[in-house]
Amino acid sequence: MSKSVTIVGAGLGGLSTALRLSYKGYQVTIIEKQDLPGGRLHVLKKDGFTFDVGPSFFSMSYEFKELFDSIGEPIPFELNELNPLYTVNMAGSDRVFQIYKDLDKLANEFRGIEDNFEVKVRGYLKGAKEIFHDTEYKIIKRNFDNIVSYAMSMATVPFKHLPKMFRTFWAELERHFESEEVKIIFSLVAFFLGATPFNTPSVYNLLNYTELEHDGYWNVKGGMYKIVEGIMGLLEKKGVKMIYNTEIMSVQHEGGKMVSVTSAAGDVYMSDLFVINADAAWFRGKFLDRKKYTEAKLDKMEWTLAPFTIYLGVKGTIPGIHHHNYFLGDNFRGYADTIFRSTVAPEKPYYYVNVASKSNPDCAPEGCENLFILCPVPDLRVKPDWSDANKLVDEIIEDLGKRVKFDIKNNILTQVVYTPNEWQQMFNLYKGSGLGLAHGLNQIGALRPANKDEKLNNVYYVGASTHPGTGLPIVVIGSRLVTERIVNEH
Ligand SMILES: Cc1cc2nc3c(=O)[nH]c(=O)nc-3n(C[C@H](O)[C@H](O)[C@H](O)COP(=O)(O)OP(=O)(O)OC[C@H]3O[C@@H](n4cnc5c(N)ncnc54)[C@H](O)[C@@H]3O)c2cc1C
Repeated sequence: MSKSVTIVGAGLGGLSTALRLSYKGYQVTIIEKQDLPGGRLHVLKKDGFTFDVGPSFFSMSYEFKELFDSIGEPIPFELNELNPLYTVNMAGSDRVFQIYKDLDKLANEFRGIEDNFEVKVRGYLKGAKEIFHDTEYKIIKRNFDNIVSYAMSMATVPFKHLPKMFRTFWAELERHFESEEVKIIFSLVAFFLGATPFNTPSVYNLLNYTELEHDGYWNVKGGMYKIVEGIMGLLEKKGVKMIYNTEIMSVQHEGGKMVSVTSAAGDVYMSDLFVINADAAWFRGKFLDRKKYTEAKLDKMEWTLAPFTIYLGVKGTIPGIHHHNYFLGDNFRGYADTIFRSTVAPEKPYYYVNVASKSNPDCAPEGCENLFILCPVPDLRVKPDWSDANKLVDEIIEDLGKRVKFDIKNNILTQVVYTPNEWQQMFNLYKGSGLGLAHGLNQIGALRPANKDEKLNNVYYVGASTHPGTGLPIVVIGSRLVTERIVNEH
């Protein structure tokens, strides 16, 4: 008889694991706290507007192709490559940089700013490419049973990359470029790892290779939630049982095995195997009483920034804005030095704006735009009180209106705001951290909470805070790795 698997959480990690396991014949049930699947890859519909709640684009699109190839199905949504990748608006200047994957076009953007940009960027990307391909299968795309196997795998990474471990992301950029503009733009990606370019190791410059040369950035026609809808269609076909509005509040185990999980309403769910898609570090502490993951220990770990998100339905079309836009303040160094530990909301916020209606007109009523604004802020360990949220909302809307020369404030038809408190509460994100555990060298590979439980033989983990890490394609890789383990062991 086929084995039964209970998956706690219907985020992308849980859904893609369910897909792989159900196509291999496992009987899968997913239990989700929310009333919809998707987790952070959520959708919000209000007053005729549709918003992607979290992710708005991704790299390594081939990981989605691999997911559907692995189950013999065509990809159930339409991928759309971003071109330009995004635009960057610098404070105090009307100059808008369009960031293209096409390096000739990109060189045009930096003409007069960075001499000889084309030669320099090719040299920079060559190093980033080498480190990406030299580590991809040794650190990211494989399971580790213990620290020794991880150390042995690390030891096979070519020695020439060693200096990159001791140099910072910013220092690597300084070796190649002179202008502040290029260095700032190329270092934005470091913030997503849960650190600043001034304390992230330079190996992560490989992310600029994935963005600018390798596979670029992609989104999905009709909005990012089409990913979830596509997966759900296939899960339904395979008879995967979905249980919504149900939060797991305790677990029962005996003899080295998990026996059941119990919901807030007292319903008990038993199965042969369990896959936890809730945060892998938080879950171990909260429900399994693991000493390594007590609140005090979790608080000492490094977490990615928390999201402060604003969803605006606006009357009129805004000419001065594109689909993907970064709006940067001045004083980059000062911003980077304080953003992770400031106990107050940022005064001159840096933020990202996604206007999905620029490419998907169905997301907004005719003649309107839907704006998703993401301002990374310190997590709830540092700033637990968001009663001043409206001040930050007003500042961002005013700043954005000025910079795109459009009266946003007086044309708002609908508005929703999620502070880190809502993000924590909605998806059990630890202290509101948006992308989960950070990716410093001490929190990757075998040093990240493992995808197999240390003590319970039938419990596995998938998602942002377990191996290999966070971000949509990486979570999809994680679903492959955890499926490999389950199939080998059960
Ligand atoms: C604002 C924002 C923007 C982002 N932008 C991007 C982007 O542009 N590109 C990109 O690649 N990545 C982006 N990310 C990161 C990306 O969203 C995550 O890495 C990814 O979605 C994580 O998926 P997951 O399956 O690990 O977790 P989740 O999506 O968090 O899923 C976990 C699920 O488990 C459920 N759950 C938790 N606890 C319980 C419980 N006790 N009982 C039942 N259910 C439970 C939660 O409700 C949730 O649905 C963004 C994240 C945020 C927050």
